[in-house]
Amino acid sequence: MIVVSGIQPTGKPHLGNYLGAIRNYVKLQDEAHAGGGKCFIFLADLHALSMPHEPAELHASTLEMVATLVACGLDPANTTLFNQAQVPQHAELQWLLMGTARMGWLNRMTQWKDKAGKNREGQSVALFSYPVLQAADVLLYQATHVPVGEDQKQHLELARDIAQKFNNDFASEDAPVFTLPEPYIPEAAARIMSLRDGTRKMSKSEPSDMSRINLTDDADEMAQKFRKARTDPEPLPSEMAGLDDRAEASNLVTIYAALAETSPDAVLGEHGGKGFGEFKPALADLAISVLGPIRDRFVELKQDRESLDAILARGAAQARDAGAPTLDAAYNALGLVRG
Ligand code: ATP
Ligand code: MG
Repeated sequence: MIVVSGIQPTGKPHLGNYLGAIRNYVKLQDEAHAGGGKCFIFLADLHALSMPHEPAELHASTLEMVATLVACGLDPANTTLFNQAQVPQHAELQWLLMGTARMGWLNRMTQWKDKAGKNREGQSVALFSYPVLQAADVLLYQATHVPVGEDQKQHLELARDIAQKFNNDFASEDAPVFTLPEPYIPEAAARIMSLRDGTRKMSKSEPSDMSRINLTDDADEMAQKFRKARTDPEPLPSEMAGLDDRAEASNLVTIYAALAETSPDAVLGEHGGKGFGEFKPALADLAISVLGPIRDRFVELKQDRESLDAILARGAAQARDAGAPTLDAAYNALGLVRG
């Protein structure tokens, strides 16, 4: 099992990122480690160049994201944790794959269509071609499992198409250069909604800070955000079916269940009949007990620039070694002379 996944270091990570993505990374890391596999998690800083960005912010966010991932339980001893900019093989392999990827394939990507809108001519070339960099990210390590959200499934299929065409065109059948990666969609990845509007997902890019619990919030901030979270005046029912038209109430129960690692129905079995005056403080206490230690560790690590640099340097060295054989095979298959 070779797990590869990336996370963009833009903005502050929040409870949705933790419950929907980072916590699964930690589980996969432990699974891969126990089974003799490997886990690669990287900061997708090169991908951040596909949109307008502020260099100083990208720099600070990259370091904060490393501190967050380690604070959440990614262990640099078991996971190869690095940023793309320190592993030039990602950009190199992307270029080698550019001859294989077809314009028509990229044109069909819904994320490109959504993000570019009507103004295609005004977009960066990076925004158009970044699925090829994503393909390089996973093919470089012969990934077998790539944890992705629904929104990234199409990009992973593109990576498979690129790998397959490259193998067909340049490799012999019994010695393919690339492994075809499989999407890995965890059974119970929670989708966490905004605390201000139960129909919108919790997001880094949402302007209102009250809409989300940041992993960097202290106990008072968390308690205040839950206290002020939008709800309705009805008490909680005793099972989820009773929450069908109550998006905000349903979201708070989902958050409770995800934090307690239990089912929403089990939460309602315990808290059914209570009003939010009682349920919200219980939820805040639970969130503080789970996220408090993560925040403390984050604050400590964030101040320790030397340790962060050491984690990234070590991860990058491991990643460069791990990717070297595949990159060599790709250069050779293409007939490039390298001395
Ligand atoms: P942005 O608003 O800039 O897109 P974001 O909050 O959506 O930021 P991303 O960096 O796009 O965060 O996503 C990082 C990971 O967190 C992805 O795997 C994504 O699927 C997951 N994720 C993001 N928001 C949520 C959410 N509200 N609930 C569950 N998972 C989420
Ligand atoms: Mg997003």
